[in-house]
Amino acid sequence: MDLTDFGAGAQYIAGRQSRGSGEPFQVVNPADGSVVEQISLASTEQVDAAVAAARAALPEWAGATPGARSEALTRLAAVLTEAGADLARVESAQTGKPVKLSTEFDVPGTIDNAAFFAGAARNLEGKAAGEYSGDHTSYVRREPIGVVGSISPWNYPLQMAAWKILPAIAAGNTIVLKPAELTPLTSVMFARACTAAGIPDGVVNVVTGAGRTAGERLVAHPDVAMVSFTGSTPVGRRVAELATATVKRTHLELGGKAPFVVFDDADLDAAVHGAVAASLINSGQDCTAATRAYVQRPLYDAFVAGVADLYRTIRLGDPLDPRTDLGPLVSHTHRDRVAGFVERARGYGATVVTGGHAPEKGHDGTDLTRGAYYLPTLVTDAAQDSEIVQGEIFGPVLVVLPFDGDDEGLRLANDTPYGLAASAWTSNVHRSLRATREIAAGCVWVNDHIPIISEMPHGGYKSSGYGKDMSQYSLDEYTQVKHVMFDTTAVARKDWHRTVFGDR
Ligand code: NAD
Repeated sequence: MDLTDFGAGAQYIAGRQSRGSGEPFQVVNPADGSVVEQISLASTEQVDAAVAAARAALPEWAGATPGARSEALTRLAAVLTEAGADLARVESAQTGKPVKLSTEFDVPGTIDNAAFFAGAARNLEGKAAGEYSGDHTSYVRREPIGVVGSISPWNYPLQMAAWKILPAIAAGNTIVLKPAELTPLTSVMFARACTAAGIPDGVVNVVTGAGRTAGERLVAHPDVAMVSFTGSTPVGRRVAELATATVKRTHLELGGKAPFVVFDDADLDAAVHGAVAASLINSGQDCTAATRAYVQRPLYDAFVAGVADLYRTIRLGDPLDPRTDLGPLVSHTHRDRVAGFVERARGYGATVVTGGHAPEKGHDGTDLTRGAYYLPTLVTDAAQDSEIVQGEIFGPVLVVLPFDGDDEGLRLANDTPYGLAASAWTSNVHRSLRATREIAAGCVWVNDHIPIISEMPHGGYKSSGYGKDMSQYSLDEYTQVKHVMFDTTAVARKDWHRTVFGDR
């Protein structure tokens, strides 16, 4: 089915697409500055309307059997599969990501998530019922939380919509999602696909609006019971503060600065190729991307040379060209922010081995100057406490630093406020076990870096947030546990009453 008509607007409330009643806004293709869609943003009244729709839909959806919810999600996976090519094209147009990435990663990942949560919906777990006190039967109910308010970023808009919406509705909640205003289109398509799959109106709502207005209204709304946020750490702090006023459950998936630790017994070729792929995926706009490579001294020079050589072969170009490896960054503003990190690093003595500026021409000679492109950039000689090593750049920039002993390598890996993901490269089982134990991150890969799967949890340690996306663990996030206790004695005067009225 065709989900790509945005003429009716970029809001999706109570099963209907509508125009925003707030500011006009252009969704722009960062590859050439062309307008993908002219939309208008949601007003705070529209956020209220979406929350009201989600609240109205809650009793029926929460009361549906797990089997009925599961069937709806199975149908959703089928609708998404049918719309796969359109989803990939629109995702690439609004983000600038190469269509080979949206086709081979974003879309299949989203479909697989829908299929996974169709199964997971029927598999809510808890403690076994039992007579734990001797005088009572206790059991646990795992119940939906209510209306979930979710806020997502622009780097993987379709997958983020899936990660937010699917576990929430699989568990019987209803949801209002506010996508990043730069990239709302595939979230609206996802909501339309939900309706096409027979998910009742109001269960899934999308409000496309600005963070400060629509986002804050959603987080603070008294009828929103839980806030699930993916985005930067500073905005995550603000969301947590706002949610505190109404004692909402929060789920925060925040920034990352993943270390990539190469020990001296690693397969150098694997580490070099792994570092190039893991630092450049999605133009480095990936919260788990490899950003800091620590390489044990004997392999350091060869690693730097290997990565620099491969970086120079990367094909930048039109995201819709299947040969393109690297598209633009999401916007000119963001490209200039990334370039700023590299310029300041140069200023304090770091070496830019390759890249470090915007390209003029693509791999096939096309003019890239209108796009938000930036060359793969390799930086060395930076200090561990410098901004380029500590801060989240979110671009195609890898910093490489040497280390001597294993203790030092692992200490440096842990030496940022973030803890989302990391990798260790070694052929020694003891080294890999030590690294996976000692690196403080929500995911540690061994001899790879980036792959994710629907069955396994994704989420941070430290300032990268808390809570898990994907997997059975995310259903825990979107449910609350109720203890139900039945008296089994039928005795009026319970033994424990003595603690209140003593010996009478
Ligand atoms: P961002 O924090 O600027 O924005 C994220 C979302 O928050 C957007 O929808 C935005 O409109 C909204 N927002 C902004 N200000 C708000 C406010 N005051 N109140 C409520 N909502 C507000 O992040 P971004 O630039 O869109 O995305 C990049 C960031 O997302 C990076 O830091 C990246 O690491 C992070 N990210 C994390 C994960 C993860 O799983 N941990 C995944 C993807 C992206």
